[in-house]
Formats: sequence, C-alpha cells, structure tokens
Amino acid sequence: MCGIVGYIGSRPVYPLLVEGLKRLEYRGYDSAGVAICDTTARIYKCSGKIRDLEASVSGKDTQGTAGIGHTRWATHGKPNDVNAHPHVSGNGHFILVHNGIIENYSVLKAKLQDRGYTFKSETDTEVLVNLIEYIYLKGKTEAEVAVRLALTKVAGTYGIVVICNDEPGQLIAARRSSPLVIGIGAGEYFIASDTSPLAGQVQSVIYMNDDDVAIIKRNELVLKTLATDEPRIKLHNLNIDTGEFDKGGYDHYMLKEIFEQPVSITNTFRGRLLPDKNEIRLGGLFHVMPRLQEAGRIIIVACGTSWHAGLIGEYLIEDLARIPVEVEYASEFRYRNPVVGPGDVVIAISQSGETADTLAAVRLAREAGALVLGICNVTGSSLSRETDAGVYTHAGFEIGVASTKAFTAQVTVLIMTALLLGYKKGSLTKEQYASFIGELDSIPASIEKILADNEFYLNLAKEFKDFPSFIFLGRGYCFPVALEGALKLKEISYIHAEGYPAAEMKHGPIALMDENMPVVVLALKDKSYDKIISNLQEIKARKARIIAIVNEGDTLVPDIADRVISIPAGSVIFSALLAVIPMQLIAYHISVMRGCDVDQPRNLAKSVTVE
Ligand code: GLU
Repeated sequence: MCGIVGYIGSRPVYPLLVEGLKRLEYRGYDSAGVAICDTTARIYKCSGKIRDLEASVSGKDTQGTAGIGHTRWATHGKPNDVNAHPHVSGNGHFILVHNGIIENYSVLKAKLQDRGYTFKSETDTEVLVNLIEYIYLKGKTEAEVAVRLALTKVAGTYGIVVICNDEPGQLIAARRSSPLVIGIGAGEYFIASDTSPLAGQVQSVIYMNDDDVAIIKRNELVLKTLATDEPRIKLHNLNIDTGEFDKGGYDHYMLKEIFEQPVSITNTFRGRLLPDKNEIRLGGLFHVMPRLQEAGRIIIVACGTSWHAGLIGEYLIEDLARIPVEVEYASEFRYRNPVVGPGDVVIAISQSGETADTLAAVRLAREAGALVLGICNVTGSSLSRETDAGVYTHAGFEIGVASTKAFTAQVTVLIMTALLLGYKKGSLTKEQYASFIGELDSIPASIEKILADNEFYLNLAKEFKDFPSFIFLGRGYCFPVALEGALKLKEISYIHAEGYPAAEMKHGPIALMDENMPVVVLALKDKSYDKIISNLQEIKARKARIIAIVNEGDTLVPDIADRVISIPAGSVIFSALLAVIPMQLIAYHISVMRGCDVDQPRNLAKSVTVE
C-alpha cells in the first residue's frame, strides 16, 4: 500500500518520478504527489490518480534532478489534497513521503501540539515529519541524526524518504515492515517501494532491510542500521523486462495477465518440472526437504487470494502426501496465541512477499521454532528474506490489483510441492508421480483452450452483469475455487458474491435462492459429482439461474443448468488451475461492462503492507 519513488542524479527528475509512480500505482491510487528539490523545493500534490497529478502540474516548474513521489492508499485521513503526500514539517525544514502506519501517532501528536506544532492534515505521516523537525531543531543536529532519533520513538510501520531543505542533494530513506529498494546507476540513485520503477533504469539494486537507514547522495550511498553506524551494502543484479509494464495490446493489465497464464505457469515450472525424467526439482526446498517430509503438521498462512491458494494447498498436501495441514488467515493466526512449535512447518504465501500480516505470522512462527517456508512472486521481497527456504512463483510482475496469474502460479508451486512430498514419502507410486508430472506439463495447453472462448464469456457477462448478487459453489478441490470466483467478482465489479461449499448451501444460503440469484456451480467429474448433481437439482427447484462449469463431454448437467461452461477433463488435483480461468474472465467482462476500474478497483491496493 502506497508507492514511494525517489531519484537523485543528473537527469530531469519529474518524468522519472511520474513514470515510477505510474508503475507503482497499483499499490494505492487515492492521491499522488511529488516534491522536486534541488535547491528550492516545489511540492505538487492532489487527490486522484497520477494522471490527475500530471494535469494539475502541467505548465508548472518541474525543473530539477532530485525529488520524491508518492501514490497513496489512505489509512489515516480522507483521500483529499491536504492528506496527500509529500508532507512538509511545520517550519518547512523537512519533506517526507511515507508508506505504513505510525501507530502511536496520536500520543506523539499531542506532545508536539503541546510544543506549539499545528497540523494541516489528518495523517499519521505529518506527525512523523514534525517529530523529525522537532528533534532536528531542538538538538541542533544533522538531518540524518534527527531522522534516526525520531524513528526510535515511533511504533508501527514505515518506508519513508525524507528531504531536508537545509541539506539539499541528499535523500534519507528508512524502513520497518514497508518495503524499499535502492537502484544504483552511474552517479544516480533511485529509491522505490519495489523494483518496477527501476526496470530499464539501473542494473543493480539493494533491498533495504528492516531498520536500515540509507543516506543517498548523487555520488555516494551509505547504508546503516538504526542501531549502528556499520554500513551494510549488498548488490543484486536486476533483470526485468520493461515490456512487463506495457498492456501488450490488451485493454487492461488484468486481461493481459489472465491471457498470460499459459506462459506464466510454464515459467513457474520451468527447470522444476522435468517430464522427460519424471522428476520435480524444487531447488529452494532442497535443504529443508528432510524436515518437510518429517513434519507432524503443516500450517499455511496467507491473506486474500493467496489464502485461497493455501486452501488448495491443504487439499493437495493431505491428499497426495498425507501430512495434516491447517490453513490460517495470517491476521488471525498472529493474534490468537496459536499452538506452533519446532515440529511444525509453516508455509507463508504472498504474491508481493510484503503482506504485513503474513510477515508478522512468519516472525511469530520462526520465534516459536517452526521451519518457515515462503511462496512468493517478488524476488528479494521481505518474505523471501525472512523465511528459512522457499519457492518463487516466477509469474512476472502482476499489475492488475485483482490477482490472476499469481494465483495460478501459487497453485502450481503447491501442486509441485505436494507431488514431490507425496513421492518422497511413498504415498504416491512412481507411476502415479510420472503421470501427474505429465499432466501438469499439459495444463498450459488446456488453459489456452479455455481462453480461446473469450467471446463466450463476453456474452455470458452481458447476460448476467446486472444481477446484484451471486453465489459460487464447489466441493473438494473446487470449493476454494468457488471462494476465489466470488472474490474476483466482488473486488472488481462491486457485485455482492459469496463462495460456499456446495453441500453447505442447505445450511443457509439456499434461503437466498430465487430467480434473481445466479449461482455459479463447479460440477466437475470428481468423486462428488453425483452429490453436486443433487445440489444442482436443489438449486433448480428454487428457480435460481445456474451457470455450471463442467468437464468436456458432460451430458447430465446441460439438462439442468441454464448456462454451461466446458473445460478440459483431467485429474481432480488440477481442477483449480483450469476452473478458475472462466471465473476470472466472467468477473473481468462484468467489471468492464459495469464501467468499473478493472485494474485499480476502489478502496483496494495490491500489496497490503498495513494490518
Ligand atoms: N498512513 C499514511 C497515510 O494514510 C500512509 C498510508 C499507507 O502506506 O498505506 O497517508
């Protein structure tokens, strides 16, 4: 949440900030702002999106080669002009952009008010910039010292970049729980919430750790920690295709990302799934495999769509490897005094690898002695650095806020993990293992077949776009897919939708069913097929409109359902990878037809770095 970008070098800074903010806009789009500061600082900010900022800045003085920018997802205070970042301290010495929450802001604010400070905004961020200034003026100290001292008094989370007007030519950055990455060029530096603004600009990056403080000048970068002056510098190579930031001819990133799935899934298993050798190699888990095999229990922690992938992980690992699995919302797990210890393996799933609750759950589990593994998409993210081992999903940058290709990549990793574990533990025979490997290899081609029917989904969306509420039902592996289908629809089209296990319908949701309720039912040919046929009849008896997702060749369901979507037949363990695609397409087209902002749905942000 919130995107930060900063630059100091010799190039005009404004276009770099704007381009960087556009790439970060998925993180929040309530307001945007920049501060350009070589000698005299100029600050431009407004509510709305980056294009609104550009319009309001048009014709104004944007000359300069150093500056900071911010795109906001409001936590404290309305998304208006005044609350937009950057924020300036009362006496104008400091300018600051912030991602995170200053939890003790009200106590600090009251103290600063006692000392004569007044506040223009409702944000927690303005408290921090004033605290820095107060310490700076009182202690007559350098800006860096004031920033470091102020941060020791702060509770909560932050990624900040600070400019001191008295010390131009320097950006000061610091983080705790909110990500920041420094891009290193020749005589220039970038700082950003993730690597997207750095792509095509620099070759090397440093991922800042919690409690790091960076003092960035044109020709010098000093990286310290809050506690010590000891420099800590580690270079990483950056290899990002800037083409990932184009829509590639599609109207929206989400549609592009839906259509990328045959390729992104192939990238997820590239070098890992070896059908010629009947092998799966997960290098990231190699050293922990013995402990994973011996695990008495696996706990999967995640949020949102990743939690749905986690549920599929539970079905997979229990089914194929016979290890008990629990799936937890990270936000619940971390606060409910969970029983977790050295015998457990915790798998944390997060697309960004920066989800605040998931990271907190990881820290709790590690302190308790569990082996903690990560599944995430972003190289160098906090999750990848704070876990004992893990697997990258390699789905490529996902820019649409509603997750699509990251979800199928997570499920692909979980399938490979469960198969490998099952084989190593002896619960899968060599033949079963080989057959599943071959089938997984063919999944991208099956997804291509589903995507070829885009026109069909367009028509379906036309027919159903005006219904105010939907129910999604599934059993077994298809139950989490039903949850994901409902989530996709509600987050991008703002239609109320609920996912339910099909059999549970009778314990409540059936009361909602009448001719005004479309019900999307996953009726694949698995062991509960006969039961789902009965469920379909029960729904039909209540006159609800049934959209059924079936396997090709199904002859029973078309007689019962109003609309039928056929997907290629296959083993039940791959159901989610195929059945989720129609749901993504239906949600997408309905959202477009209702005039919603598909890629940046209201109130949401992609990387949820606040609790
Ligand atoms: N707390 C700050 C604000 O509301 C930053 C929000 C965030 O990072 O999501 O402006």
